[in-house]
Amino acid sequence: MIPFNNSYVHLPTQMFTRQTAKAVPDPTLIVTNASLADALGIDPDWLTTPAARDVFAGNAVAEGSEPLASAYAGHQFGNWNPGLGDGRALLLGEVLGTDGVRRDIQLKGSGPTPYSRSGDGRAWLGPVLREYLVSEAMHAMGIPTTRALAAVTTGETVQREEPLPGAIITRVAQSHIRVGTFQLMAARGDIEALSALFDHVVDRHYSDADSPAALLLAVTKAQASLIAKWMSVGFVHGVMNTDNVSIAGETIDYGPCAFMDAYDAQSVFSAIDRQGRYAYENQPRIAVWNLAQFATSLIPLMPDQDAAIEEFTTIINAFPTHYEAEWINAFGAKLGLVDPSEDDRALITDLLALMQQNGADFTNTFANLAGPNSAAQFTDRDAYGAWSTRWQARGYDVGIMTAANPVIIPRNHQVEAVIIAGRNGDFGPFHALLAAVTEPYAPVTNATAAFARAPAVDERVTQTFCGT
Ligand code: AMP
Ligand code: MG
Repeated sequence: MIPFNNSYVHLPTQMFTRQTAKAVPDPTLIVTNASLADALGIDPDWLTTPAARDVFAGNAVAEGSEPLASAYAGHQFGNWNPGLGDGRALLLGEVLGTDGVRRDIQLKGSGPTPYSRSGDGRAWLGPVLREYLVSEAMHAMGIPTTRALAAVTTGETVQREEPLPGAIITRVAQSHIRVGTFQLMAARGDIEALSALFDHVVDRHYSDADSPAALLLAVTKAQASLIAKWMSVGFVHGVMNTDNVSIAGETIDYGPCAFMDAYDAQSVFSAIDRQGRYAYENQPRIAVWNLAQFATSLIPLMPDQDAAIEEFTTIINAFPTHYEAEWINAFGAKLGLVDPSEDDRALITDLLALMQQNGADFTNTFANLAGPNSAAQFTDRDAYGAWSTRWQARGYDVGIMTAANPVIIPRNHQVEAVIIAGRNGDFGPFHALLAAVTEPYAPVTNATAAFARAPAVDERVTQTFCGT
């Protein structure tokens, strides 16, 4: 049983389409998330029942669920697309968690909707396993994110470049409202829907925001904080399109995302991102671009448009101020600095420059920085030694470092290995990696040593493919 308490379905009907999932032939549970269920007020014992399996497969509509596909638009790689929406996802409904926070429960891979365009509405197993692992790892690292409640295989083959096993993930989010949701209503000139959406978002996520400008500021700050956290763990989202930017400030839509192994500021993993628009170091700039689109979509709510443009521009221009403060805090903590400030910037950027020149592993450099073998990541030991002397002089706190530096992340080659095993029906490697990445700060044990190790050159997986 899921204690649904739905609100989105009461918004103006032009914002969504009521839609049920298309049944699948042979659903089988891969994994369920008991602790998340508990926090959502769902009985963890129910999760593993055939009834739950049928709900997570879209073969049964749970009591209280009012499934719908939401409409949105967006800029994809900078190009306007007025007709996106949940093309392979369904909002089953919302629940109020034990923390009082309202959250969406959504199926992804549940079949066609009016927004599917030429797509089949399905997902294959690979992106489902990737999203489950990476989103739960992000949560364990304290980074705002959608979560994963369950995953099932469908018993159906989906056709991509080759026939692949189908799967469905059940995703939990503070909401699935995106910049693109606002953009669609603004582009349609639908002020009724735009105002209703504004009120809904304020009520749900930013109760202190009493105006569009206040909402823009709150969303700007949330993005600045989120992107700084991504940077601090070497995360490359890969598709920062405006339809993949959550208004609530969570990481959403894990497509071709990956964590870097060796530090490279220009890291790009997505096979379709040929220009590197969404490269690691571009992420803060792209966030600003996306926020400008959000601001544009709020203008129709303002009585004086010229004054609004000026006010909104000032808010967005302050993004770097919020972001840089968050970045200094995040990276300062990684170096164990007490009260990090702008004065510490050079110490941080000089280490990153050394890491780049030496091909140092991002995660392991920070995880081992205070250990006896810290120099092992660097071929130029003298340069590292000189940097380390400056760092010692500044002083650091090992407790701060330990809390800020994950030891285990879902490394790309490990995620790929899990997907290959899963395709062959073996989910043992998935469960082992999931257990490891959801304890990212735990000391390495025999069971997790392989996951903490950086890939050898021939093990590196440098390209990922979109989650379709
Ligand atoms: P994404 O790249 O996952 O953010 O998806 C962009 C848009 O394409 C969204 O509107 C999705 O719903 C839609 N989409 C992606 N894959 C499929 C699919 N297999 N079937 C239908 N729609 C899809
Ligand atoms: Mg998307």
